Amino acid sequence: MAKRLVLVIDQERCIGCETCTVACNLENSPAAGPWIRVETRDARIKDTPVGRYPELRMEFLPRLCMHCTCPPCVDACPTGALVKRDDGPVILDEAQCDACMSCQDACPYDVILFNEEKGAVEKCHLCSHRIDQGLEPFCAICCEGQAIHFGDLEDPDSKVAQLVRDRETFQLKPELGTGPSVYYCPPLKRRRLV
Ligand code: SF4
Repeated sequence: MAKRLVLVIDQERCIGCETCTVACNLENSPAAGPWIRVETRDARIKDTPVGRYPELRMEFLPRLCMHCTCPPCVDACPTGALVKRDDGPVILDEAQCDACMSCQDACPYDVILFNEEKGAVEKCHLCSHRIDQGLEPFCAICCEGQAIHFGDLEDPDSKVAQLVRDRETFQLKPELGTGPSVYYCPPLKRRRLV
């Protein structure tokens, strides 16, 4: 069976430290900024508490390319620069990018950045250069809170399959039918409060 590589991000463990963004910068040197950003789910402003006094809490949502199962960016790219790999990652061949920005318009997750120096777009490739060496994406390795899990969802013994099976999870904008490969486990406190 083909692999289905995914990320599961546990909001219970995310402390908003942004080590993932630093890790992304170190590993990939993206000129347009890190390909993973830490935001809140709704306000998209990181330092906004959630809830009502006295039950206020901080809640963080690292956002990156969703490595969609049906990626609109790939369909929109006229040069074939964007490709969906069989094992999951959506990767970009910068040399083929003509900067038409069709992918940016098509992506519903606002995760494609423009690199002015190169005159091409940039996006997370799930550290595919590391995956191909049997390593994990660098953000997952470096996460201080061990909130980012990477693995094959088709392997029932993997941590990601366990989390998706045993914890409540959600995906971003599932109604669009893009099939995100990034799953989030909501904070346990949220479930206790509601
Ligand atoms: Fe493409 Fe955006 Fe989906 Fe990533 S999140 S695969 S850039 S449509």
